[in-house]
Amino acid sequence: MTHPDMAARYHAQHAGDALDTLDTTHAGLSTEEAARRLSEYGANRLPEPPKPSPVLRFLAHFHNVLIYVLLGAAVVTAALQHWIDTGVILAVVIVNAVIGYIQEGRAEQAMAAIRGMLAPHSAVLRDGKRVSVDAADLVPGDIVLVEAGDRVPADLRLIEARGLKAEEAILTGESVPVDKGTRPVDADADLGDRTPMLFSGTLVAAGTGRGVVTATGGHTQIGRISGMLAEVETLTTPLVAQMDRFARWLTVFILMLAAVLLAYGYFVGHMAFSELFMAVVGLSVAAIPEGLPAVLTITLAVGVQAMARRNAIVRRLPAIETLGSVSVICSDKTGTLTRNEMTVASLAAAEHIYSVSGNGYAPEGAVRWREADAHPEDHAVLMEFARTAALCNDSVLRVRGEDWHVEGDPMEGALLALAGKITGDGAEPFQSWCRDDAIPFDAAHRYMAVLHHGEEGAARIHVKGAPEAVLALCRDQRAAGGGTEPLDPGYWHEMVDTLAAEGQRVIAVAVRMVPGGHAALSTTDLDGTLTLIGLIGLIDPPRAEAIAAVAECRAAGIRVKMITGDHAATARAIAGMIGLENHERVLTGADVEAMDDAALTDAVVETDIFARTSPAHKLRLVTALQSHGLTIAMTGDGVNDAPALKRADAGIAMGLKGSEAAKEAAEFVLADDNFASIAAAVREGRTVYDNIKKVISWTLPTNAGEAMTIIVALFAGMALPITAVQILWVNLITAVTLGIALAFEPSESGTMRRPPRPRDEPLLTGELVWHIVLVSTLFLTAVFGMYFYAIDKGYDQALAQTLAMNMLVVLEIFHLFFIRNIHGTSLTWAAVRGTRIVWACVVAVTAAQFAITYVPPLQRVFGTQAVTLADGLLIVGVGAVFFALIETEKQMRLAFRGPLAERGNQR
Ligand code: ADP
Ligand code: MG
Repeated sequence: MTHPDMAARYHAQHAGDALDTLDTTHAGLSTEEAARRLSEYGANRLPEPPKPSPVLRFLAHFHNVLIYVLLGAAVVTAALQHWIDTGVILAVVIVNAVIGYIQEGRAEQAMAAIRGMLAPHSAVLRDGKRVSVDAADLVPGDIVLVEAGDRVPADLRLIEARGLKAEEAILTGESVPVDKGTRPVDADADLGDRTPMLFSGTLVAAGTGRGVVTATGGHTQIGRISGMLAEVETLTTPLVAQMDRFARWLTVFILMLAAVLLAYGYFVGHMAFSELFMAVVGLSVAAIPEGLPAVLTITLAVGVQAMARRNAIVRRLPAIETLGSVSVICSDKTGTLTRNEMTVASLAAAEHIYSVSGNGYAPEGAVRWREADAHPEDHAVLMEFARTAALCNDSVLRVRGEDWHVEGDPMEGALLALAGKITGDGAEPFQSWCRDDAIPFDAAHRYMAVLHHGEEGAARIHVKGAPEAVLALCRDQRAAGGGTEPLDPGYWHEMVDTLAAEGQRVIAVAVRMVPGGHAALSTTDLDGTLTLIGLIGLIDPPRAEAIAAVAECRAAGIRVKMITGDHAATARAIAGMIGLENHERVLTGADVEAMDDAALTDAVVETDIFARTSPAHKLRLVTALQSHGLTIAMTGDGVNDAPALKRADAGIAMGLKGSEAAKEAAEFVLADDNFASIAAAVREGRTVYDNIKKVISWTLPTNAGEAMTIIVALFAGMALPITAVQILWVNLITAVTLGIALAFEPSESGTMRRPPRPRDEPLLTGELVWHIVLVSTLFLTAVFGMYFYAIDKGYDQALAQTLAMNMLVVLEIFHLFFIRNIHGTSLTWAAVRGTRIVWACVVAVTAAQFAITYVPPLQRVFGTQAVTLADGLLIVGVGAVFFALIETEKQMRLAFRGPLAERGNQR
């Protein structure tokens, strides 16, 4: 059971010895051996800190000012021997703790769901083949492939490194990336000097490499140092934090007010202490929005889970709010707006143009020339296309049943399939060729080059990449007969435009023979020395759901822009298919570079397509857009995209093809890389914000109305229209039901037809303050009205109070239905029908009210009396009038808002 890292000092060993020590080879472990080691050494995960027990976590929710005050009140009432009051107060205390506990559980579930979806994967060799596995399944002896942007998944001894640099700040504190290589170092070297090692948790800053796993989980350097970087993230956003502070100060304010009222009633009003004390306790509980922060957190948790279900994973919670106010989305093209399922459609050589048929990634199909099959014997150039396509390639094709899949870059998968179609050798042609060196693809230079030696001993360089990039490296081109002839750039550029105008992604392929002894590849080997073979056109159809999502965004006042490394003509054709607003005008990376910041700022708003851009341009584009006060969401995948993702208001990284570096810089990660998920996330972001607002808009006026009732009665020196115990009861049942129902509200139907919310819009708008005043006044009027009506009819006081209390609850229910549709009308069938949760809450509250009104033991506890049917109907009738009043008032305001908001949006 001893972990292999305990004894060995791998950094001082040669790579080959390290492999022997770990009992593995360059081809990695077999699947069975990996499974065996996994059960022996355990999962590659840092041990988690122990969790406090549920009982302790429940008790923690009693640690809160309001609870202490209530407990104090319980003691006082007990001393006065008002056992019923004591009981109800304690019930309020427990219900509060339960809500807090539920909230915590919800928040934890939400966070766990996110964490699960963000579990990192790594590329390893198993049975000699490259596969992607869950990083937790790595075992000592596995061969892991790393590239720029990866988080190192375990401690690795490098066996191959090309331009590799690692950023090891979390281990060594050194923030400058250090060079990595394979040569052994001194056994006593410090961590920072162990160049042939890559340590778990550090970031690959540049280059590519492969290494053998020496330690996993808690045995890694990071695991030994920290045990666990116990990073507790709490579920909150600026808005919720603000409400939390607000609620705390409001509590203090109300407690002070309560003390003043107690003194006033006792010394000025000469009221009996015990009654007065209960009234003041009732007032405090009514006025303090004790459940509000917890309910808001539940609202957020529900939102986070809803987003996760739609494949948008929130990494930084405050960004949920930002998402609701996004006004521009800058999206990648390949894989986000398109399906990233590539197929080679055409080949263009100096003499002939070929079309390629076949389905998906299956390496079979025909290559045709002018309606007749073209054979590699007659068309020697086809074999050269095939060789470059297959060798200048890091992907693998794999068949499962009838279906072919790519492991790696889909474009390279399509090229492998092409090679299979030409050679007829299936998915692994040119097996006898051996790769000596490579220059990996990089979005900045836009090509990839490889050096191979074949059977004959001769060495060849194969290059594929963006046509401009490859043409610039070429000296001549392949002639039809097999020799070379002078390069004809005019012909090739025209050809590129023709293919790109159909929306095809075009790449160029080139070759060069070098002497057999050549073993290392550098960019100087390529400059002006290559022979161009031809162009390859690939199709990558737009995603149907992205077309719908772009339309949805446009309706929601959100401008969608495409930022791609692809050719301008390809980008324009795809933009047309996707339905971008302005799909004519294109700015290329070169155009962007030629502009100064002022010119760019002018051009950026009306342009929706940016082609042949590199990651550095993205940063300038975001900054230029932000200078217009727009809120920007920006997608990215590569390491170099990190600055732009950080700069954007909502950085969105790709979950499938994105690098760890991009994910860590982003606020959101898209589990499926799909543009439609961005639109869904924006919708959820707006919904969460709406629901936060709804919870607040429901709670504050309700509390204010209840509190006002008691205050007015106290100052008027009259009996309370609703007794203190009854107020506690109403708070008790409504807090757990009606408020929480709003946390689960689905999106309103018009959510994506409204313009984005201005990003600095305050929460306590004049509109909300007005709503609080209006509703609490109406509450006050209706409750007192009902009470006086009853007294007037000669009912005794207990019955009058029962009517007033039921009036209050009915008003709260009607208010809930009103709040459900703050942006639209509540008078549609869908609005009335509500959701299952809303109705469950309403039914629960109604049942509770019937119980307290009609069940004799409860009548004795709460001092209630049975209400007649006629009076019951009257109460519901008054509730309906209240609803009609506030709904009409809302319609009056909406009538003004519509056209004004639209005009604001056009600006
Ligand atoms: P996109 O925005 O479409 O993802 P990229 O930055 O990935 O664009 O690619 C830009 C261009 O670089 C592509 O149009 C293609 O010509 C070329 N290219 C992309 N991937 C590779 C690769 N693996 N090897 C060679 N060239 C590539
Ligand atoms: Mg790309």
